[in-house]
Amino acid sequence: AICIVLAALLSGITLSEIKQQKTGFEKDALTDTAKHARVFAQQLSKAFEQADQITLIVKQEWEQSKGKMNLETMFSHGLNLSFHHLSVSIINRGGTPVSRSHNSPLGVNVADRDYFIYHQRVQSNGLHISEPIIGRSTGNTLILFTRRLNAVDGTFDGVVAIAVKPSYFAVFYDNTMLGGAGTMAVVGKDRVLRMAKTGDSIRTATDMALNSIPAFESDKGAALMTDVPWSGDDEAHFVAWETLRSYPFIAVVGLAKRELIADHEKTWMSYRNNAVLGSIVLFLVALVATLLSARLVWRKHQAEQAREAYWVATDGGSEGFYMWRALRDREGASVDFEVVDCNERGAAFFGLPKSQMLGMTLSSLTQQPYFHQIVQICDKAMKSGLYEEEYRIPPESTLKMEWIYRKLVRTNDGVAVTLRDISAAKALEQELVRLGNEDDLTGLPNRHWLMEFLPVAMERTKKQDGMVGVLFIDLDGFKNVNDTLGHSAGDELLQAVAQRLKSALRPTDNVVRFGGDEFIVILEPVADADGAARVAARIAVAFLQSFELSRGRHTVSTSIGISLYPQDGDDPETLLKNADMAMYAAKVAGKGRHRFYRPEFYEGLKAEIDTKQQLLRAIEEDQFEMHYQPRVDTMTGELVGLEALVRWWHPERGMVPPDTFIPFAETTGLIIPLGELVMLKVCAQLALWQQQEIAVVPVSVNVSVKQFNEGNVKNLISSCLATHGIPPELIEIELTESAMMGDVKSIQLEVAAISALGIKIHIDDFGTGYSSLSLLRTLDIDVLKVDRSFTSQLGQNKQGEIFFKAIVWMAKALDMRVVAEGVETEEQVQILQTLSCDEIQGYVVSKPLPAKAIPALLHERFLLKGIAERACVEDAG
Ligand code: C2E
Ligand code: CA
Ligand code: CA
Repeated sequence: AICIVLAALLSGITLSEIKQQKTGFEKDALTDTAKHARVFAQQLSKAFEQADQITLIVKQEWEQSKGKMNLETMFSHGLNLSFHHLSVSIINRGGTPVSRSHNSPLGVNVADRDYFIYHQRVQSNGLHISEPIIGRSTGNTLILFTRRLNAVDGTFDGVVAIAVKPSYFAVFYDNTMLGGAGTMAVVGKDRVLRMAKTGDSIRTATDMALNSIPAFESDKGAALMTDVPWSGDDEAHFVAWETLRSYPFIAVVGLAKRELIADHEKTWMSYRNNAVLGSIVLFLVALVATLLSARLVWRKHQAEQAREAYWVATDGGSEGFYMWRALRDREGASVDFEVVDCNERGAAFFGLPKSQMLGMTLSSLTQQPYFHQIVQICDKAMKSGLYEEEYRIPPESTLKMEWIYRKLVRTNDGVAVTLRDISAAKALEQELVRLGNEDDLTGLPNRHWLMEFLPVAMERTKKQDGMVGVLFIDLDGFKNVNDTLGHSAGDELLQAVAQRLKSALRPTDNVVRFGGDEFIVILEPVADADGAARVAARIAVAFLQSFELSRGRHTVSTSIGISLYPQDGDDPETLLKNADMAMYAAKVAGKGRHRFYRPEFYEGLKAEIDTKQQLLRAIEEDQFEMHYQPRVDTMTGELVGLEALVRWWHPERGMVPPDTFIPFAETTGLIIPLGELVMLKVCAQLALWQQQEIAVVPVSVNVSVKQFNEGNVKNLISSCLATHGIPPELIEIELTESAMMGDVKSIQLEVAAISALGIKIHIDDFGTGYSSLSLLRTLDIDVLKVDRSFTSQLGQNKQGEIFFKAIVWMAKALDMRVVAEGVETEEQVQILQTLSCDEIQGYVVSKPLPAKAIPALLHERFLLKGIAERACVEDAG
């Protein structure tokens, strides 16, 4: 732009200068021409005056001498003409030339010529100047200056004439002044051209059309004429004219513009050339500058676009990018950083728009301890080239995230920073860790957590020379709750237990759900065994209070086994195993207690494991035998039923009573296959007796709570009956009262299903549990077997009798038969007879007997014979 302005200025100045010079030149040319015209006019006037005077002198001479004068002598004796090439002659009144200034022939008559006729006619003595005429003797073009000659009387007497060639006027003017193409002319007021000289050629009116001569109306003037008519060319001339003062003639001078301008034009041309050259140079400079700057702009634009595109691309991602420039102190250490660039996302991390973020310093973006830390990290990155880490954002930071991944890369004058929000990923990771370490039901840490924690706690304690206490806690009777109230109640209890345990402990102690109803408490540190014992006692006290469940209140106690690190093991597995053994010992000792680990427990546990394996093997090999105990009518002693009781023939120990292995089979779950075995054996026995055509009575089979809750008793019975072709009325089942205390709905369904098979149900050990009478009524129970502990009181005290009486009365009301269990004496039989107890069972009738002894009893039928007879005798007596 500057170049264009300069070029315009240059050409403008040049052009205006040229224009100014041109107008100056024209003015000058016109003034010059006018000067020339004045000089020419003055010279012409002089020439005309001369001719005027000569003719006047000749006229006077002629008139005084009365026509006797001779011109030739006159001129040779005095009148000296300044220009000899003009000839004077006298023409008489007849028109014949009579005298001449030059010695030359006089020539022909001119009476017919215009000038002669003019003077003849006009009574004027003035000078007359003719138009150009052709001389008759010479044939030359001439102009005549004439004056009338008068006779004495004043009449016309002839004419004096001076003839000049047109070229005569040309001598007045210097050729050098006119130049090669200059022009000059003598024009009459009559618009007749007397003479015109252009260059070297001379023309007159004889050559020119009259009307083409301009009028020259003003006396004098100057003008640029594009076409001077007499010049014979069409060149422009500066033309000036001036009228002679005493004669009707105009002197005209023309200077060729071309010639005048030639020199100036050279200057102007060089001006213009210089201007054009200057402009071209300026234009080239401008062009180069424009190209360079355009290239620069384009590059800048491209770089900008690439940068923008990069930021836009990165904005889509989850990463924030920043370019931080180091601000250094005098020693060159970086004291702060300035954000020279960033993407929108990066700005958003700080809760700012990008426009606001740019130019901000790190110190204004972050707060003090954090700021110092970041500057240190930046320094590290600038030293090593790269720094990256996952970092937990302190709450006081301006960054609105929990976790970030940050990566710093060294740049020329600072660092390029990448931030990524990894809060979500971290949260997920932590959640996974938590899930892996936490028990779903109680929210307590789980076994996995414990196995990670315990070694750390042990290591920590080792340094402090202290102890770690491991309390292995098992809920007493939890299985019962689970079995009888259902799993949801069991879950509820476990949750409540978790809370109870936590509240009984110091906040630094950890409670872990180890599995099922087993909890572990880690005491870290604990001073000595007494400290651990005190915690165990505190837990026991806490569990005295019952648990409020949606199914009512429940009380559970805990059995706690304690092992101590380092004395009871130096790895977590050993510590836990030993605490478990101690817990088992506590349980065996009678529940609700705690026990410290002692090495001899190990032996006990080993024995138990052996027992389990032996029992499993016994079931597989069927080391069992069924004994049968008769049940008789109280009054008549008639055999009405048999109870099947299992016996284990241990290969080494001999006969093992059920009291020692049935509870064990229940806790280990082996009761299920054992129960199936029993049912099969009973049915097989009945089938055998039937085959032997022995009249049999119904046989009742004991079914454990666990079996009953598994819900497969009905299927078991029906499949056994089917296998051996036994009618259902020959099998009865005995359920302990506690079996009735579980989930009412499912018990009802199960009992109803069994009854539907035609199987009678006995409530065993009645009086030891808390079965609801209304439930018993809805369940369609057939027989109540009153526990032996009540029978044994009969005859001992009054309460025994009262209780029995109440049961009999109640059973009658519910339409059930009552059986007295464990009747051992005749006295008891008599009391029971008076109490109207329906049936009796016990040693007084018979001990349980092997199957081979039964047919004899069946045959005998009335088994109370002696007693009944005696009673009858006594009655008779
Ligand atoms: P239970 O069902 O109450 O069985 C009656 C127990 O009382 C039997 O003990 C029997 O021998 C004993 N008994 C009978 N009359 C008298 C008496 O006059 N005086 C005394 N002192 N005892 C008497 P046994 O056979 O040792 O059975 C013990 C318990 O083992 C049974 O108690 C029963 O609960 C369980 N049991 C036995 N066989 C089986 C079985 O096949 N399956 C299941 N689930 N449990 C069984
Ligand atoms: Ca029984
Ligand atoms: Ca019983």
